[in-house]
Amino acid sequence: MSITTKRILVLFSVNVLMAVHLLAFYHFRAYGLGTISPQGGLDILVDGIITGSAIFTGVLVILTIAFGRLACGWLCHWAGFMECSHVLLKKAGIEAKPLHSRAGILRYAFLAMLIATPVTSYFGKGMPEIGDVQLGAVEVFTPDLPTGVVLVATVVVSAVVITGLFGSRAFCRYICPWSLILRFFDRISPTRIRQKKKCEACRTCTNECPMGIDVQKEIEAHGQVRSTECVRCLTCTSGCPSGVLSYSAKAGPFQPGGSFRTRLSDFGWATDLLFIVPAAILAPVAIFKLDSFQGWLGAAWGISIGYCALKVFTAREKRDRGIAAGGGLLLAAGVAWAVFTPTQVAAYNTGKYAARSGEFAEAEQLFRGALAMDPNGRLSYDILQELAALMVDEARWDEAEAVYQEQLALKPYYEPQVKYNMGQAYMRQARFAEAADSYRAVLRTRPKFADAHFNLAYCLRDLGQEQEATAELAEAIRLKPSLASMLQLPDAP
Ligand code: SF4
Ligand code: SF4
Repeated sequence: MSITTKRILVLFSVNVLMAVHLLAFYHFRAYGLGTISPQGGLDILVDGIITGSAIFTGVLVILTIAFGRLACGWLCHWAGFMECSHVLLKKAGIEAKPLHSRAGILRYAFLAMLIATPVTSYFGKGMPEIGDVQLGAVEVFTPDLPTGVVLVATVVVSAVVITGLFGSRAFCRYICPWSLILRFFDRISPTRIRQKKKCEACRTCTNECPMGIDVQKEIEAHGQVRSTECVRCLTCTSGCPSGVLSYSAKAGPFQPGGSFRTRLSDFGWATDLLFIVPAAILAPVAIFKLDSFQGWLGAAWGISIGYCALKVFTAREKRDRGIAAGGGLLLAAGVAWAVFTPTQVAAYNTGKYAARSGEFAEAEQLFRGALAMDPNGRLSYDILQELAALMVDEARWDEAEAVYQEQLALKPYYEPQVKYNMGQAYMRQARFAEAADSYRAVLRTRPKFADAHFNLAYCLRDLGQEQEATAELAEAIRLKPSLASMLQLPDAP
């Protein structure tokens, strides 16, 4: 069995495990472990909760420091789609060689998006106290993930199309922001592809590397692969006819071998812009219309359309120009579909803008329209959240309470968040007994939620239960010492 087949089997198993996880969470209501996607791993820097994501992200970082980007090569579920696409395309006679382009800078834009929330939160609220372990605090399939026709479009365009156009693992090289984060840690990993005997310079390793690394040149120059793009897929070690390469840790003194320098582009700047500009335009369109995760789809759309345009102008054969024109038109049709089809996400986003501009009636109308499109959709919880906030602001308490109950019915695993919001709404109405009940419900599942202890203390004091209020306040400050600066209990929000 070839190393590629073994890797595809492992990647397939990762996707099977993901399916089991989804089934356990949604069908069997096993809410103990929520998402472990690294995408949510930075949330720990926003609310201080140690989620499954945060732990998995930590494990990924440790794995990368120890073994290099092995997880990219063998554990990424998305890599499974890409590797399968590459094999299928090869079977269909399409041999897509990895192309390098400055369009890889798109990854930095997605990285900026990834860290924007924790950074904004830091400047708004400061660093959270980290401590509450809630592995199931974020559901497995978060609302911004694609479903239905969008999922198909995402897989086809992000995995098959750009693999066919830009070569294997194009998604890793052009779009995935995690590749940049893991490249940073890969830089200090002592475990690399190394030369163990004389190289015959046949260049098989270079020709077969799915990341487009010039392995032979790196071996010749450094005796090891220093590129941080190496995903330790081991194609080169198993493919070298002379058995030159091994995957090993450097014995003796620690010698970090990584380098950020990789080949930048096979094209000139003008061609690279032909890829970058449409991607930079279509990524935000996809985010607004289809949700944040689909920014990746928009970028994949953009660089693929750019590639088709390039081929229409440069292909020698008329037939190739025709294929490129047809492909470009197909992709443009996909974009038109995304832009002109009314979507729940677009209505929801427009509603949020209206609410922020103080257009509350219009915002409510948009939220209700978005809900009507898919009342039980995964985004419905967030829409209800916005609706409830509008109603609380307008003192429409009974309606808000009904909306909170709808939220609970939709996503029972988010009870702590909903009950906390209900507690705050009750406090605004001076209904302290009900608010206290809500905070107690929060604390049953999140006993280390300092703010809930703090607000409960306020309610209990108002209810004349001084002793319990003092105990709750002490617990709040123990969990979150910064609350000591607010020893004057707050006014009701
Ligand atoms: S495949 Fe092996 S022998 Fe050929 S260039 Fe690469 S390391 Fe050298
Ligand atoms: S250098 Fe070798 S292990 Fe690294 S990505 Fe290329 S083929 Fe895979």
